[in-house]
Amino acid sequence: MLSQSPELADILSEALNISRSRALTLLESKSTRVMKYKDLRYITLRRDVAGHYEGTVVLIRGGEYRVVEGYPHIKRVLLLSVAVPRHFIDEVIVEEKMDGYNVRVVEFAGRILALTRGGFICPYTTHKINIKYREGVKRLLEELGDEPVIVGEVVGMENPYTRYHYPEAPEWDYFIFDLYRGGEPVPVGERLELVNKHGLKSVPIHGRFHKNDWRSIEEVVRGLEELGREGVVLKDPGYRVEPLKYTTSYINIRDIREGMKYPFDEGHTFIFPRVLRQMFKAVEESWSLEEIKRVSAQLGEAILVPAIESIKTYINEGKLVEEFILTFHDPEVLEDFLSYSASLGIPLTIVSIDRGEGLMKVRIQKPKRTPDYYKRILKTGISPLD
Ligand code: ATP
Ligand code: MG
Repeated sequence: MLSQSPELADILSEALNISRSRALTLLESKSTRVMKYKDLRYITLRRDVAGHYEGTVVLIRGGEYRVVEGYPHIKRVLLLSVAVPRHFIDEVIVEEKMDGYNVRVVEFAGRILALTRGGFICPYTTHKINIKYREGVKRLLEELGDEPVIVGEVVGMENPYTRYHYPEAPEWDYFIFDLYRGGEPVPVGERLELVNKHGLKSVPIHGRFHKNDWRSIEEVVRGLEELGREGVVLKDPGYRVEPLKYTTSYINIRDIREGMKYPFDEGHTFIFPRVLRQMFKAVEESWSLEEIKRVSAQLGEAILVPAIESIKTYINEGKLVEEFILTFHDPEVLEDFLSYSASLGIPLTIVSIDRGEGLMKVRIQKPKRTPDYYKRILKTGISPLD
């Protein structure tokens, strides 16, 4: 890898507009990762660097390169009544926040590529996008013209990252929520027209309100609450100010319940931020004591029930793994995906493969850290925390 650094340093220095020596230092540090995908190489930023967000990617083939900016962090609202009138200028578009994983789609060196939030070309997601949307995505990118980027959420059950059931996408689908042209977001109205025109899908839009009408936004969130959906992202129609996000109580608790299946992986870091969201929601929505007690019981259950179950599973089965199913139209992509995961330090195991009609359904297991902690605790009886 280091032997390639001099040439990569030239590219990185030009791409990010930084000095060559800074580029060299970055390439040799943990702030970047150099990866390969087919005939491409790419450099990923693992943190914010020189005004570029974490997850920024420099795609390279030969001497040719392209920078794809990382997706910016979206601030979270705790009090709609305060944040919305203060933050927005006049009107607010209420978009649904879908719960999957963030994917930037770009074209480079004749390939349609899917980039994860962290800035990696995911072979599986790239495969699925090409199978389902290749033509529409190509045409949309062409129409956008200057440094075009499509950004959306992959949702459904057939993915390696975030799996929740959506009736409109039980297996795998891609819902667009931003388009970029020349580094700038395309206004919401134009974005929706373009997405529609090219036969692609948008995240649902739940209305356009005046910023002082935060109660209407609260109403939208209440509706999503009843459907068990994640929440909303609030956007200025012309992106003059940055978006804000707000989630349902249902999802705040569901995330804790899911996370606590593996307490030493996601679980423990999930708890406090989500308790905080519930604290301010309760105050803003003037919950009765009865309501507070009902949600408190749910919260307590969400923390302890899955955690206790996970210890029992570990004791009874001697292991604790995450399992999911991916579908492939091409066996080579499975190989690519497994070696990609391994290169990121996640060794996956294939449990079974179902073949039929040009489609492979592959059941995969992903290791977790939690069982290592359980093993030590059960052996020593001592807490790893204090
Ligand atoms: P952040 O760095 O913004 O806190 P996070 O990884 O904690 O990101 P989330 O809390 O899920 O992520 O919120 C931001 C993410 O929401 C975006 O990266 C995007 O993938 C997802 N998202 C879903 N729907 C939308 C939408 N309509 N507009 C923007 N982002 C959306
Ligand atoms: Mg998300």
